[in-house]
Amino acid sequence: YDLVGLDNLVANTAYLRAQQVDYDELRKRRVSLTLPKPKNSSGLLLDRKYESVCEQQPIGRKLFQEFLLASNPQYVAAAEFPEELSHWRFAEDEAREKAKRSILAKFCQPESKSFLSYLTGEAAEICKNLSNKNFDEEALEQIKEATRDFLRGKPFLEFMKSPFFYRFLQWKEYEKQKITNKYFYEFRTLGKGGFGEVCAVQVKYTGQMYACKKLDKSRLKKKGGERFALLEKQILEKVNSLFIVNLAYSYNDKTHLCLVMDLMNGGDLKFHIYELGERGIRMERLIYYTAQITTGILHLHSMDVVYRDMKPENVLLDAKGQCRLSDLGLAVELPKGRTICQKVSAGTTGYMAPEILKQENYRISVDWWALGCSIYEMVAARLPFKDFREKVHNEEVTRRTLEDECKFEHKNFDDPTKDLISRFLRKKQLHRLGSRGEDPRSHRFFQSINFHRLEAGLVEPPWVPKSNVVYARNTDEFRDNSEVENIKFDAKDEKFFNEFSTGAVSVRWQKEMIDSGVFDELNDPKLNGHGCESVHN
Ligand code: ADP
Ligand code: MG
Ligand code: MG
Repeated sequence: YDLVGLDNLVANTAYLRAQQVDYDELRKRRVSLTLPKPKNSSGLLLDRKYESVCEQQPIGRKLFQEFLLASNPQYVAAAEFPEELSHWRFAEDEAREKAKRSILAKFCQPESKSFLSYLTGEAAEICKNLSNKNFDEEALEQIKEATRDFLRGKPFLEFMKSPFFYRFLQWKEYEKQKITNKYFYEFRTLGKGGFGEVCAVQVKYTGQMYACKKLDKSRLKKKGGERFALLEKQILEKVNSLFIVNLAYSYNDKTHLCLVMDLMNGGDLKFHIYELGERGIRMERLIYYTAQITTGILHLHSMDVVYRDMKPENVLLDAKGQCRLSDLGLAVELPKGRTICQKVSAGTTGYMAPEILKQENYRISVDWWALGCSIYEMVAARLPFKDFREKVHNEEVTRRTLEDECKFEHKNFDDPTKDLISRFLRKKQLHRLGSRGEDPRSHRFFQSINFHRLEAGLVEPPWVPKSNVVYARNTDEFRDNSEVENIKFDAKDEKFFNEFSTGAVSVRWQKEMIDSGVFDELNDPKLNGHGCESVHN
């Protein structure tokens, strides 16, 4: 028998089967779940800002919606208007016309019962005078802002005194539960990193699949990697983007620190360039991935974070065929005041910008350079200054990067692509696209992309991974033989482990509860003691 092959087959089968949700099985796993009573202290420690409770946190947002819909017609209208507005924004053609007519009839006619009667001053005028002709983004945005101003006043105060908010506190209490290995089932190894492996896991009660990056505590301590591990975790938990791998949980066990993130089971783009079919990635996919990567990079930059490790290997595909940036181990936050990074060279040979190689100060522009190199590689299956598998000294790659012009010899380069890459590969930071306040998304390369729809996850991926294929190397290739001696941990180490292990990340965890149906099940007043009676107004 080929035992290694058999092991791999068994691992793959279990992993693929876990991804087919079995609702009956899940319901059995969670019959005993109930929402805890909020502790007195938890409500006081809570962030009580309107933006945080009613907009950013999915469960808070849902409960606030439910509260509004159970109140009076004015509150109902204030809840429905933003929903219908975003529906109109993302709709196309006929559906968009229909959405527009609905908004005009429902919210802008004084005789309609959903008329936005809470508007005052200028916003009220705009609303009353809104018609087919002057129905534009700017006017609607003003009405939406006025609606928010209204909601964050009296309705929000009433919400906080209602049973809906008590329910929110219960969910917050539940969210704080301690996370251990027992919370998950573990499946096969998907990849290997510098401090340990990444494996697939499934949350027992929700069925949600994730990837768990395990960092070996001993190895971290020996190599002094603690600071970077914590930094990676802190940046990951702050991002909330469709195009960056998001963190759902961080916890630790005896031997490892664990980062539980979005499962990306469609393989990385390097694999797609070199290992699947013809070398390179065809134009439709190239434009789609580049648009998502660009949006992800812009998100990091908007948080003053420089990614520093942009390359196809770090871009992973999910089951639907959308991509996300991963491995934020080299990312750094720019100090306040948006000054420059320290002069430390960081990145991968072939993707590093001239200013890094010359050890000059640098900022976000290094990511746009690396993106230029990556787009080039997706087309030509080689780098602009380094051929595929070319045996060449780093010094020579540096020389070429600093001195040579980028050549476009491959037949698949078209004009817009060449132009975009050339703009990203300007040697002077100040001349580079993306570094001068100029938005790369406006480049004609992206002509076919509607970024609003893309950011809402509404653009169909041009290629979908097969659901019965595991896009990862065989499990035996990750076997680890290196010895780590037993290292003793002191109080300082324990303090660091605790700082790292903060459990569930609010936004992601709340999404998981909603998507998996656990939110609806536990919120159903029939199923547990303290139901939410509607509020009177
Ligand atoms: P390191 O920082 O140590 O290089 P990475 O974050 O790059 O670790 O992870 C190592 C490998 O694990 C990756 O190359 C990839 O194959 C796999 N991997 C990482 N994150 C995920 C994920 N979210 N989903 C699926 N596989 C992943
Ligand atoms: Mg890596
Ligand atoms: Mg890393």
